[in-house]
Amino acid sequence: MIYVTKRVKWAMSHRLGRGYSGSCTNLHGHEYYADIKVGAKMLNQQGMVVDFKLLKDVIGSFLDFIDHAMMDSEDTQLKKVLETIGSKTKTVPFNPTAENMAQWMLDELNAGLVEFGRLYDFSLEPREVKVVSVKIYETATSWAEAVTDDK
Ligand SMILES: [Zn+2]
Repeated sequence: MIYVTKRVKWAMSHRLGRGYSGSCTNLHGHEYYADIKVGAKMLNQQGMVVDFKLLKDVIGSFLDFIDHAMMDSEDTQLKKVLETIGSKTKTVPFNPTAENMAQWMLDELNAGLVEFGRLYDFSLEPREVKVVSVKIYETATSWAEAVTDDK
């Protein structure tokens, strides 16, 4: 396998629930970083795993939903108030930990890669191009990583 990695960042607030009782139940924010690693069995004729432009567009369309949003795992009063004042929110079916977000992002970006690959007429399947890992940093010293397990 040959790999390329793209680093991106976004700002987001969130709060943890679902039985969690620490200080992260309070609304707070992070400047997140993610390293998105894409692998291929072989390079294309232009010598690429994937065009960085395509990768940037796939990731960008995903980040549009969460950048500068408040992420929560359920529809809460807080969410309703934020939406009333025009603030961006994102409800997800999981506790928005870095671990859950990394797995979600891995799945969504792989689906996006297929969609954009088709749109850009960029050959992915014969070379088995896929997002193999997403590493999300909540801080410079704390991160979670989700890895594709179908090797
Ligand atoms: Zn947090």
